[in-house]
Amino acid sequence: MNYEDAKICSSCLDIYGFVYSKMGVFYQKCDSKCLNRDLKKGMLLSEKKQKRWDGFDFNEFVTLCYCCGAELLKSGSRWSVWFCEACKKRVLEFNQEMGTSVIPIGRHSLMNGIGLKLEPSVPKIKIEETIDHYRRFGASINHLDQWRKIAKSCNWRSAGLDSGQDVGVIRYLSSVKGLDKEEAFIGMRNFFLK
Ligand SMILES: [Zn+2]
Ligand SMILES: [Zn+2]
Repeated sequence: MNYEDAKICSSCLDIYGFVYSKMGVFYQKCDSKCLNRDLKKGMLLSEKKQKRWDGFDFNEFVTLCYCCGAELLKSGSRWSVWFCEACKKRVLEFNQEMGTSVIPIGRHSLMNGIGLKLEPSVPKIKIEETIDHYRRFGASINHLDQWRKIAKSCNWRSAGLDSGQDVGVIRYLSSVKGLDKEEAFIGMRNFFLK
């Protein structure tokens, strides 16, 4: 995998640009809500209306860890995990301690222990519990989305990167290399417990 040409958008802090891999060449776009996503230099006009990439659940080849924002992760599958190894370990331990999946580790509900076979024998209360869990799961995904923006903008600031300028992914990763992941996790945990 080669992401030398990929950058981080200074407005939404998501990755965009060309990624080269054995599976082909992909032009990844930054956040769908980002006003600058279709205005990037070097972006082909044909990329404006992208079709779903073959073999992907959504058009994202790589992403940054949702907790520390300092590690590059493979993405694009509904089974993709949102955390690097170090952060994932902390999240799983924390969820176990809490007795429930407070912080989701990926977008598929089954990864987070949610799901119920809806057989007629399932008591109504159980069904209501599951629906409630799904609802909270949605809320926790939104919450995590907010956290990952905070983490990335903290990294951006502490690395002294220019606020108005997109930065190469490689440069970004090397400038956040020494980041304290435990501190990032504590920040995220507190954000969830607030
Ligand atoms: Zn953007
Ligand atoms: Zn991480």
